Amino acid sequence: MNWDDTTDEAAAAAERLVGSVADGEDQAVEAALRPKDLGEFIGQEKVREQLDLVLRAARARGATADHVLLSGAPGLGKTTLSMIIAAEMGAPIRITSGPAIQHAGDLAAILSSLQEGEVLFLDEIHRMSRPAEEMLYMAMEDFRVDVIVGKGPGATAIPLELPPFTLVGATTRAGLLPPPLRDRFGFTAHMEFYEPAELERVVHRSAQLLDVEIDPAGAAEIAGRSRGTPRIANRLLRRVRDYAQVKADGVIDRAIAGAALAVYEVDDRGLDRLDRAVLEALLKLFGGGPVGLSTLAVAVGEERETVEEVAEPFLVREGLLARTPRGRVATPAAWAHLGLVPPPRPGGSGKGQQDLFGA
Ligand code: ADP
Repeated sequence: MNWDDTTDEAAAAAERLVGSVADGEDQAVEAALRPKDLGEFIGQEKVREQLDLVLRAARARGATADHVLLSGAPGLGKTTLSMIIAAEMGAPIRITSGPAIQHAGDLAAILSSLQEGEVLFLDEIHRMSRPAEEMLYMAMEDFRVDVIVGKGPGATAIPLELPPFTLVGATTRAGLLPPPLRDRFGFTAHMEFYEPAELERVVHRSAQLLDVEIDPAGAAEIAGRSRGTPRIANRLLRRVRDYAQVKADGVIDRAIAGAALAVYEVDDRGLDRLDRAVLEALLKLFGGGPVGLSTLAVAVGEERETVEEVAEPFLVREGLLARTPRGRVATPAAWAHLGLVPPPRPGGSGKGQQDLFGA
C-alpha cells in the first residue's frame, strides 16, 4: 500500500494515539493481529453475513467473486476484509491505493499483470485520477482495457483482454464515488463504528496474540476509550501493555489501564489533548459558542484544517459539539464532560446553552 500519499490532515491524525490512520508501528504489528477468516472477524454482523453468502455462491459456481465496495472510516477493517476475501476464495491479493494511481498507464500495468481470480484491493479509490477511473469502468465490466499507444492524431487504442479478477474498493464514504463507478460493484458494504462490547473482544483477542495478560475490566476500560475503532483499540492496548510492564507486573486490570491512558492523555471517552483543548476553548473562552472555526483554531493554536478534520468529526459524532450556520456550539454533554456549568444567558431563561438545543 502506498502510505506516503496521505493528506496533511491524515498525517496529523496519524501522529495521535487516538488517530484512526495507521502509523509506522501499526503497520508493523497489524499483520500479526489481522483476523484471517470471516469467523475470526469480530462484529459487523450484517456485512459478514452478506459477504459470506457472496463468497460461498461464487465458490459454488467456481467463479470469481463480484466486485466489492467497502465504505467506512479508517481503522474499521477494510484492508483486513479484503485479505479475508482473497483467503476465502483461495486467491492471491494485490494491494494498492487511489493516490498511487495517477496515470491510466499505472492502472493498466497493474491490471495486465493480475492472475486469474486475483483480488485487487484499491484503498482510497475515490482519490484515483479521472483517466484511471474511466479505464477501471471497462476493466470491471468487460475485463478489458484499451491501452493507448502514441500521441495526438496517430494515437491508437490497443485492446487488451484481462483475466477475471475481483476488485475490492475501499473509501471513507461511498458518496464520494461517481455513480458510474459505484454502480459497477456487485456488492457494497458499509462498515459501522464498533460497539464497546465488540471492541472488548478485539482487545482480548489481540492481547492473546501479543501474549499479554488482561482481565475483563481492563479490556472494557481500553475498549471504552477506543472511539469505536479496532485500530485504536489495538494501539491503546500496546501502550497500556508498556505501562503495565514498567510500572506493574505486566498484568492489565482496570486501574492499570486507567492510569496508563491518563499518562497518554486519553480520557474516559477517548478524547485526547487536542479534542479537550478545542472543547475547553469553546466552553471557557467563548461561553460555549457559537464561534467561528478560524477563531476557535487560533484559540487552540492549531490550523483551521486540523481542528475541522482531525478534532471535530469525533466531537460531533460523540454529540459534544455541533456545527451550526452561526458557528461551532458546545452541547450540554460537552459542559457535563468537562465538569463545567453553562453560564446563564443574559435575559434568557437561565438555562444558558441548553436553549440552543431546545432542552
Ligand atoms: P482499514 O483498512 O479500514 O483502515 P484495517 O483492516 O487495516 O482497517 O484494520 C486495522 C486494524 O484493526 C488491523 O490490525 C486489524 O487487526 C484490526 N481489526 C479491524 N477490524 C477488525 C475486526 N473486525 N476484528 C478484529 N480486528 C480487527
